[in-house]
Amino acid sequence: MAWFTRDKPAVKPEDGEKRVRTEGLWQKCEKCGQIVWRKALEDNFQVCTKCGHHGRLGARARLGMLFDEGKFEEFDARLASTDPLEFVDAKKYSDRLAASQEATQLRDAIISAGGNLNGRRVHVCAMELKFVGGSMGTVVGEVITRAIERSVEQNVPLIIVSASGGARMQEGALSLMQMAKISAALMRLDEARVPFISVLTDPTTGGVTASFAMLGDLNIAEPGALIGFAGPRVIEQTIRQKLPAGFQTSEFLLQHGFLDAVVKRGELKSYLSKALDFLLAPVEKGAQGILGAQGILEDAGQDAVTRAS
Ligand SMILES: [Zn+2]
Repeated sequence: MAWFTRDKPAVKPEDGEKRVRTEGLWQKCEKCGQIVWRKALEDNFQVCTKCGHHGRLGARARLGMLFDEGKFEEFDARLASTDPLEFVDAKKYSDRLAASQEATQLRDAIISAGGNLNGRRVHVCAMELKFVGGSMGTVVGEVITRAIERSVEQNVPLIIVSASGGARMQEGALSLMQMAKISAALMRLDEARVPFISVLTDPTTGGVTASFAMLGDLNIAEPGALIGFAGPRVIEQTIRQKLPAGFQTSEFLLQHGFLDAVVKRGELKSYLSKALDFLLAPVEKGAQGILGAQGILEDAGQDAVTRAS
C-alpha cells in the first residue's frame, strides 16, 4: 500500500496580507505581555521588539528569511498522506489532514526548498508546526529523505529547521520508521562528506529530537526553545525526581553539551553562512583551505560559537 500520494494538486502560497487584516493589527507578546504592532513583529520574524522573545515562525516565513531575496524553489510539495491505517481518535485522521491542509495551504508539515544563502547553493527543509503539530509521518519522512538524497547527488549542503511535536501517532509504526529511514540517509550524506546543519526551534520534541534533529554536523538552537524527548511530567513520574529549572531549554542543553550553539534568529543566516564556510573550506579552497578553516574556526570561537564554559 502506498503511504502517500502525489495526486494532490499544488497549492498557492499563503496570502499573508489577507490573514494579517483578519487577525487584527496588534499582538500581545507571550513573554513580556507588552502589545506589539503585528507588522513590526512580522518584519522582525516574530522576535518581540520589546523583549527579544523568539515567537514561533512558520515554515514559509522561515525560508523567506534564510534564502537570498527570499527566493527559493520547492520540491515534493504535492506529496500527501493516504491515511494508511484509516486512523480515528477524537476525530478522523483524514479530517485532521484536510483541516491542516486548508489552514496552512501545505500538503504536509514540511516545505523542502533549494536556493542561495549568501550566494551559496543550499537545500533547506523547514517544518510547519501548524500542520498536525509539526508531526513527522510518512510524508515528512519521505520529503526529508529525498532532500538528503538530492544533497548527496548534487553535493549541496543541507539545513533542516525543526519545529515538531514528534512522530505522528495517527500513522503509528509507519511514522516511527521514518526515524530510521532518515538517519540511514543522513549516514550516506555523511559518507559523501556533504554538511548537514540542524536548527532546532521551539518546540522540537519526541521522535524528531530522537533522530535527525540531533544528527547534524552542527546542532544549533534558537534562544528559549523547548527541546526534549518526553515531556517533563512523564520524566518526573518515571525517575521520581524533581527536574531542575529551565530543563529542556536551548540554554540548558547547550550548558550540558547537547548543542553546539544557541543563535538568535536575527543572526541565524550569517551564522549558517559562516559555519558552511568553515565546514566546506578544505573542499572549496583545496590545500589553502585548511589554513583558512583554522582562521574561521578561531573567529567562530570568539563570536559565533557560543558554547558555554
Ligand atoms: Zn516581549
